[in-house]
Amino acid sequence: MLKNVNCLKMNRIYLDNAATTPLDPQVLEAMLPYLQHQFGNPSSIYSYGRETRLGIENARKSVARLLNAHPAEIFFTSGGTESSNTAILGAVRDLGCTHIITSPIEHHATLHTVEYLDKRDEATVSYVSILPNGHVDLQHLGQLLQDAAPAKTLVTLMHANNEIGNITDLHAVGALCKQFQAIFHSDTVQTVGHLPFDLRHTPVHFITGSAHKFHGPKGAGLLYINENVQIHPFIHGGGQERNMRAGTENVYGIVGFAKALELATEQYETDSNYIRSLKLYLAAQLQQELPGVTFNGDSFGNSNYTVLNVSFPKSEKSEMLLMNLDMNGICASGGSACTSGAQQGSHVIRAFNNNPNQVAVRFSFSRHNTKEEMDLLVEKLKLLI
Ligand code: PLP
Repeated sequence: MLKNVNCLKMNRIYLDNAATTPLDPQVLEAMLPYLQHQFGNPSSIYSYGRETRLGIENARKSVARLLNAHPAEIFFTSGGTESSNTAILGAVRDLGCTHIITSPIEHHATLHTVEYLDKRDEATVSYVSILPNGHVDLQHLGQLLQDAAPAKTLVTLMHANNEIGNITDLHAVGALCKQFQAIFHSDTVQTVGHLPFDLRHTPVHFITGSAHKFHGPKGAGLLYINENVQIHPFIHGGGQERNMRAGTENVYGIVGFAKALELATEQYETDSNYIRSLKLYLAAQLQQELPGVTFNGDSFGNSNYTVLNVSFPKSEKSEMLLMNLDMNGICASGGSACTSGAQQGSHVIRAFNNNPNQVAVRFSFSRHNTKEEMDLLVEKLKLLI
């Protein structure tokens, strides 16, 4: 009954896995009972309710084990956006943070939340500089933390950037935060399910996750809240998620989150090596076949294996590149999902590469992609540039 994902691809080549990924059939299988006969409200005390409650609590235990956290530190949400909103607003309203340090290359889930707090005078905001290779300038971060003292500060910096793939060292940022007693939130949406985590030994107060980025369902997210901090809910209502997140739980989403993370962890070595080899192969082919191609970010250094951000020389043809790729059955994006299909330019690329004569395209990969697809892409690009 469950078709292989490859059969569903038809002739299209999907290279926008940082935007979202297809649901793994094994994840769907784990979710199905909760979409069918196990439909009870987890808050109901009779057997139907107890069954779905068990599904949620088993998922929580499994996620906690896979990330090396306590089950009490794991909260299920509707996705990365809600998780980051909860953490950032909680840090300001409940933990006394009056200053926020972030970066200009964060996802809008962070940037717009921080801007909202700034506009309402609930916190002041400073932005850490971005180095030419797209990394956060840690020296500047230290300076900003020092300048902000004695104000209580929230540092919100993402783990892997969704557009260029650059990875920020959570331990280095966490150590600086510790030195200045700052709260540290990291948007880890692009790394949960892609990189191993050991939260008991990682100096963060909040991290976030989103199941649809690693072959789980959309609308199922994770918020990790370290046991040493306590915030109030972002969504008020019933007492679900131990009074942290009101609303009847998305049981099948939560079960799907846990199953997708379990599979991702099991397959990590194989999948990451394979996907990295595709990224490196594509980069080498592009360099060989297309003169003038450059890569944005630290693509071959401290970078996520799932993302390759490529700049093509600007021309009348290349300005229409995303649309032309789409017409040729190739799905890629100019940046985050909100800018897919439109060449609006990306706030991330602009933060460190202001060359107006280039067109940036993000290719992002999953285990379903193949070397043949990379070859086809390069052949198409040769015609479209
Ligand atoms: N943060 C990053 C880095 C992302 O890539 C995304 C996905 O678009 C989000 C946050 C938002 O996650 P969600 O779609 O689960 O709200």
